[in-house]
Amino acid sequence: MTERLLTGAAMLGEGPDPNWVDNFSSFILSQDYDQAREVLRAAISRGVSSQLAEQYAKVLEDFLQKRDEVEHPVILAQHDQCIVRQTVNGQGRGLFVPSYQTWGVQLWKQRPLAFMQSGISRRSVQVCCACLLPIGSLASQLRHVGLDPPAGAEEILLTNGDQVGEEGPKEGFTPGQVFPCAEGCSEVFCTEACRAWALAESSHAILCRSRMEPSSSSALQSLEQLADEADQEHLLLLAHAVAQMILARKAGASEEQVKHRFAYQFASAPWKTLAENETDAQAREEWFAQAWELLKSIFAFEDLAVEFLDPELLSGLLGTFELVNMCVSIPHPLNLHGPRLRLLGEELAAALVKLQEPLQDSDSEPGEEDADDAEGEVINGAEALESACTGQLFENVMGTALCEALAFINHSCLPNCRVEFASGSQFEANGPGLWLYCVSRRPLVPGDEVLMAYVPSVVGKPLEVRQQKMKKFGFECNCRSCETDKVLEMEVEPPT
Ligand SMILES: [Zn+2]
Ligand SMILES: [Zn+2]
Ligand SMILES: [Zn+2]
Repeated sequence: MTERLLTGAAMLGEGPDPNWVDNFSSFILSQDYDQAREVLRAAISRGVSSQLAEQYAKVLEDFLQKRDEVEHPVILAQHDQCIVRQTVNGQGRGLFVPSYQTWGVQLWKQRPLAFMQSGISRRSVQVCCACLLPIGSLASQLRHVGLDPPAGAEEILLTNGDQVGEEGPKEGFTPGQVFPCAEGCSEVFCTEACRAWALAESSHAILCRSRMEPSSSSALQSLEQLADEADQEHLLLLAHAVAQMILARKAGASEEQVKHRFAYQFASAPWKTLAENETDAQAREEWFAQAWELLKSIFAFEDLAVEFLDPELLSGLLGTFELVNMCVSIPHPLNLHGPRLRLLGEELAAALVKLQEPLQDSDSEPGEEDADDAEGEVINGAEALESACTGQLFENVMGTALCEALAFINHSCLPNCRVEFASGSQFEANGPGLWLYCVSRRPLVPGDEVLMAYVPSVVGKPLEVRQQKMKKFGFECNCRSCETDKVLEMEVEPPT
């Protein structure tokens, strides 16, 4: 495998095969589009001009389009530069690019249909309720977790992470400034725009405690507790999803349209059937029954809720969350302050490490035991302070999101795209709220499937390690890279 890679790298300097256009054309004429695509891909990777690449990509695109009109007439959905359709091997659906895309291009950008910050993350960092950006000052963040801020902490302000450039913060964002919910609940926002949007268009429009009837509000609190105790945050995400569905109906979409968009278009299975064993299945049944009662109370005063409060729909939605949701992970801006954080002192730094321990546990991959995870371990204050000054003390904001385009991206250990987050007050966002966007990591030719690494740490690892890591996620990887490596391994095995 290493040898193959090296050969590939060595070929980079050689320039394209002089016969590539002839080869490309003869594959097109014999309707072998996969081969034609590989010839084009090889030419691009060996440095053919982007003008030529685009020109021949267009030829391929036209032929593929004609073929698809006959063989795969159904485009299930379109997301910016991408379409959703059946994969050619018929093993499900995928996200594809119909046209040539060079590297570094944004393939799609959208807000999630529903998202939330994880409970353990909520307890360790205060974020904008609309876009999950940590806001305020070091002092307000310390008070949020019940610690007394030291002198000078008021002056250390959280930025939106975009200040590094010359443009300065995005309009409407002032480092350190916090906008409390206009209705008076305890949520805060990064900008006026995020606040106004959240109260009109995000789940907070319905789930703001100050807008809810007392019985609904206390049911929401119970659901939060249930999700926490059961360690099943998707139970709480259901409330956010139902709220978003109601808002979509209020905005004029039909019941059918809303159900399709939020549920039926996605891969799904009743939540119980995804359990690992009988005990887990039983626990899920009980948790769901409790959540179901609470959801009815939460939405008791919303007339349109009755369309979505259907156990089959909601259990299927939980299955969808489990199958296609993305883990949210947003860097903490306090890590940008470096040595200024020395004012924390060793004791506070150690207290912050302690507070964030549950987050680290949830961060490590299942089954991977931390060697120094001993109970009651004494945290070294000097080490904690050092990690603060080197930008490593504050854990990322964690959460979970259901995102339309993302839900159709299949995994590859050799991904051709990556997915990023943008908060409302960052330049990459197209408006208030949380955004996800997908960037190509290499040129894509017409008909290519967009592939990401579900577990980013597998990229660049040997086959055995990749297969092991993916297995922990209940997944035997058969991506092209794994298949090729498996064949190569069989070739080098000595004959018996
Ligand atoms: Zn915001
Ligand atoms: Zn509110
Ligand atoms: Zn793989």
